[in-house]
Amino acid sequence: MPIATVNPATGETLETFEPIAPAEIERRIAAAHAAYGRYRTTGFGERARLLGRAADLLEEDSENVARTMTTEMGKPVKAARAEAAKCVKAMRWYAEHAEELLADEHPAQADVEDSGASRAVVHYRPLGVVLAVMPWNFPLWQVVRFAAPALMAGNVGLLKHASNVPRTALYLEDLFRRAGFPEGCFQTLLVGSDAVETILRDDRVAAATLTGSEPAGRSVASVAGDEIKKTVLELGGSDPYVVLPSADVERAARTAVTARVQNNGQSCIAAKRFIVHTDVYDAFRERFVAGMRELTVGDPLNEETDVGPLSSEQGRDDLEELVDDALGLGATALCGGQRPKEQERGWYYSPTVLADITPRMRIHREETFGPVATLYRVADLDEAVALANDTPFGLSSNVWTRDDADIARCVRDLQAGGVFFNGMTASHPGLPFGGIKRSGYGRELSGHGIREFCNATTVWYG
Ligand code: NAP
Repeated sequence: MPIATVNPATGETLETFEPIAPAEIERRIAAAHAAYGRYRTTGFGERARLLGRAADLLEEDSENVARTMTTEMGKPVKAARAEAAKCVKAMRWYAEHAEELLADEHPAQADVEDSGASRAVVHYRPLGVVLAVMPWNFPLWQVVRFAAPALMAGNVGLLKHASNVPRTALYLEDLFRRAGFPEGCFQTLLVGSDAVETILRDDRVAAATLTGSEPAGRSVASVAGDEIKKTVLELGGSDPYVVLPSADVERAARTAVTARVQNNGQSCIAAKRFIVHTDVYDAFRERFVAGMRELTVGDPLNEETDVGPLSSEQGRDDLEELVDDALGLGATALCGGQRPKEQERGWYYSPTVLADITPRMRIHREETFGPVATLYRVADLDEAVALANDTPFGLSSNVWTRDDADIARCVRDLQAGGVFFNGMTASHPGLPFGGIKRSGYGRELSGHGIREFCNATTVWYG
C-alpha cells in the first residue's frame, strides 16, 4: 500500500510519501532506545507536565487536525472534532491518574512473612521501546490511547501508522515534540507494513501493540511470539445489539442508528448485528429503518453530514461484496443495499439494513466495516444469547432491557470484553477496553491499560 493522502470523498491523491530508508529506521530505533535510557528515570510529575502540555496543544490545534483526519479518511468533520476532544481528555486523565494507578503494591503481611521476607513490594517499572501499529479509522484516538499511558509509565513509542493517514501520523510526532518530550520519546516511522517484522525483531524494541485487522494481528503476534515479546491486540468486532421486550424501543432504535453508523460505520465497537425479540421486532425495525433512511450522506467536510465515504475504494468494494453475497442468498434490503446514486465520485455506500439473514451468508460471520446492519428476529433470551455469541469475535456487546434477570443472565453469558446496557458501547479513559476470541487480547485504558506495558517487579527484602 503506498503511503499517501487520498481524499475518500473524491478519490483524488493529494500527497505521496516515500517510506523512510532502512538507515533512517535504524537511526530512529537507536534514538528511541537512547531516549528510553534517560526518560525512564523521570518522575510522574515531569511526565504529567509534558503530557498536559501535549493536551493543551492538541486542544489548540483541534480544528486543523480534525480537517486533516477528515481529508485523509473521510469521517464527518464534527466526529473528527469530537475525536480530538476525546484525546485531550484521555491525556489529561492519564496525566492526573498514572501515579496512583502505578503506585507500589504491598502484599498481605502474612504472605510477606510466609515468603521469608521482612518486607516485600511490587513496583511497576516501564518495559522500554514499544512499537505501535495503528489503523486509520480513529487515526488520533487509537494512537493517543496507547501513547498517553505508555509515556506516563516511562515507556517510549515508535508509531507505524496506517499508510493512508501519513499527515495525521506526522502531526502526532510533532505534537509530542512541541510538548517538550525529549527527542526520541515518540517518533513516527513512515514505513509500509513490510517493515514491521524487522523493527519488531530488533532487540531494542521491547513490546508491540496493534490495533487493526485479524491478519495484521496474527502476523505481528507471530513475530512477537517468536521473539518472546509482549503484545496487546485490539482487532475486529461484530458486536451484537440485543433488544428485549422490556426495552425502551424508541430510544433503543434511535441509539442503534448512531451505534451502527458512527465513523461511517467503520468502528470496531460499532453495533453490527441487531438481535431483536419478536415481541418488539416490528416496532424496532420500523423506527430503526426510518432512522437509517433519514441520515444525510455526503461530503464529510460539510457540517450537516452524518455519513461520509468509506476510507478506501477497497473498503467500499469489500462491503459491497458482503451485501451482494447476502442479497444473492435471499437477504432482504429494508433500506440501502447499494451505492448512493447522488454521489458521482468518492467511495460512498448507502446506510443499509438487511433482514432474513442465514448462516450461509458471509455477512453472518464476517465483520461489516461500513454503514450496514444485519437484523435478526429471535423468540427468547436463550436464542438471543446464542446468536450474540455465534461469532468469531468478542469485542463488546449491547443489551436493551429493564429486567434484572435478563441483565444478570447477559453479564454471565455474553462472550465479549464488555456488556453495555441501555446505551451503546463507547470507550472512556477510566474503563478497561479490549476483547476476547478473534477480537484480540489485553486491555487498553484505565489501570489495566497502563499496566500492560509495565514490568511488575517483585522486590523482596530478607
Ligand atoms: P489493517 O489493515 O490491519 O491495518 C492496521 C495497521 O496494521 C496498519 O498500520 C497497517 O499498515 C498494519 N498492517 C497491516 N498488515 C500488516 C502485517 N501483515 N504486518 C504488520 N502490520 C500490518 O486494519 P485497518 O483496515 O486499518 O483497520 C480495520 C480493522 O481494525 C477492522 O477489523 C477493525 O475492527 C479493527 N479495529 C479494531 C479496534 C479495536 O480497538 N479492537 C479499533 C479500530 C479498528 P498499512 O496501512 O501500511 O497496511
